[in-house]
Amino acid sequence: METLWFVIPCYNEEEMLPLTARALIEKMDTLIKDERIAPDSKVLFVDDGSKDKTWELIEKLHKSVPMFTGIKLSRNRGHQNALLAGMMTAKEYADIIVSMDADLQDDINAVDGFLDKRAEGCDIVYGVRSSREKDTRFKRWTARTYYKLLAKLGVDIVYDHADYRLMSRRAVEALEHFSEVNLFLRGLVPMLGFKSDTVSYVRNERQAGESKYPLKKMLSFAIEGITSLSVKPIRLITSLGLIVFLISLIMLIYFFVLWCMDKTVPGWTTTVVSVWALGGLQLLAIGVIGEYIGKIYLETKHRPSFLIDVDLEKEDARSAAKNADKE
Ligand code: UDP
Ligand code: MG
Repeated sequence: METLWFVIPCYNEEEMLPLTARALIEKMDTLIKDERIAPDSKVLFVDDGSKDKTWELIEKLHKSVPMFTGIKLSRNRGHQNALLAGMMTAKEYADIIVSMDADLQDDINAVDGFLDKRAEGCDIVYGVRSSREKDTRFKRWTARTYYKLLAKLGVDIVYDHADYRLMSRRAVEALEHFSEVNLFLRGLVPMLGFKSDTVSYVRNERQAGESKYPLKKMLSFAIEGITSLSVKPIRLITSLGLIVFLISLIMLIYFFVLWCMDKTVPGWTTTVVSVWALGGLQLLAIGVIGEYIGKIYLETKHRPSFLIDVDLEKEDARSAAKNADKE
């Protein structure tokens, strides 16, 4: 049996926390009773610099039920960073880590499915929303369009997956090698590889409190997703430059023909063609420079070039050690 740690980022969630804690303790008790997870499994609340009573509540929960524990960030660092902080803390104790929002929008019973997939040998299991009926039409449409855009930009992303997922300890350890500051976890995790699968669930409405993601934050998160994972926008500039330059060439030929037929106003041709040609060349040059900046950008992220899934030599050593232990 493996030790499971839930990681729950909380920002001003005093209204939600008691409900979430109750639901979690019920679920954990059943899972432990059914011997699906180890009895020393825990729930880690990450207080992301809340301004309300969230941290006091977490302390109280910890005192009354040892299963609940918490960390408090020094200030508000945002959902993604809070999540990372929680996962990095949990991996010291847990074999598997499930990240979930504090608002119970994600169906907690999907964890059963996660554990089934884990038993089949998955290192990462993504929770995927099977329907978005409870979301507003606007949110549904923007989300759809956004996922499609990301896919077009070459970002490997799991459709309709937010940050509700199970990760094994070694997957989280692998994630640690991605030392980037601009965090967009749902784009990074698929980059890890390893055996992974999805479990779908119905997403609910927030039960109490309000969304901590107003439109402005959502937009900046969306832009973060693109700019931290794709350098394709730069390439777009290069193509645009090329197109504009080609247009200027076509114009040049066209005007040359007109000039031969003596049908042009003096001076106009050279002016227009040079404006287009120079504009095109400038865009092209910016694109080329951008291409190198893109490279520098990716280098500065220090992402690992590879991660090893299975190492037979190490596996032999491990099983030999195990056998020695038995004797
Ligand atoms: N959250 C956080 N830090 C923030 C904003 C949000 O830790 O700066 C947490 C919040 O407490 C919740 C999760 O991130 O557990 C998702 O936030 P929310 O439910 O408000 O987002 P939505 O579901 O509306 O996109
Ligand atoms: Mg929510």
